[in-house]
Amino acid sequence: MFQGKILKQKSLLNHIKRIKMENLLKYNTHTKESQAAINHDMALQLLKDGNQRFLNKSMISRSFDKQIEMTSLGQYPFATVLSCIDSRVSSELIFDQGIGDIFSIRIAGNFVNKDILGSMEFACKLAGTKIIVVLGHTSCGAVKGACDDAKLGNLTSMLENIKPAVQKVTEPTDANLRNSGNISFVNKVAEQNVHLTIKRILAESTVLSEMVHDGSINIIGGMYDIHTGEVTFYE
Ligand SMILES: [Zn+2]
Repeated sequence: MFQGKILKQKSLLNHIKRIKMENLLKYNTHTKESQAAINHDMALQLLKDGNQRFLNKSMISRSFDKQIEMTSLGQYPFATVLSCIDSRVSSELIFDQGIGDIFSIRIAGNFVNKDILGSMEFACKLAGTKIIVVLGHTSCGAVKGACDDAKLGNLTSMLENIKPAVQKVTEPTDANLRNSGNISFVNKVAEQNVHLTIKRILAESTVLSEMVHDGSINIIGGMYDIHTGEVTFYE
């Protein structure tokens, strides 16, 4: 009972903090102090709120010139988002974020390699972001390419990064249904690709897995639906 009351007060406090943060971000951007005040739960909530504003057409009308001025001496972003290069999936737009708010890493098929892990380590350990989002999307061309075993120049070896996700999806077994013509199969592979990417981050980056274990960051997967604009997080 008493604990429930504390939890309620905590969530109210977080709510007030969030509203204050939204007002702050209309004209300003994150500061060292505001970044330090955000934990990974709040960081996730800020992204959820941003996607909701995007869906409701109630995006914050930002003063970019002011944000440029404010970030000219330093940046204090709260989140790192790994997403696809797909022209429909711009993290800043779909999460309604401004200048200095998020580190945006983009590569076809949103997988990681050493260079991307290094970028994430910089973003979290040195620049202080509190959450890493691995964001897949429906109808992903790179995932379709991996499903179809497409061959083209450097794309051939790049698609190898997504192949483990194709193998991980066991249904359907009929080879004729395991290609880009079956969009439900493609979307299942995209989801597996997100889960495997998170596993790979934890397995291949000691810096980031230690930060997850000590609670200073969280890594979460999500899926952007290109038909609706909605992000669903895998919580
Ligand atoms: Zn894609």
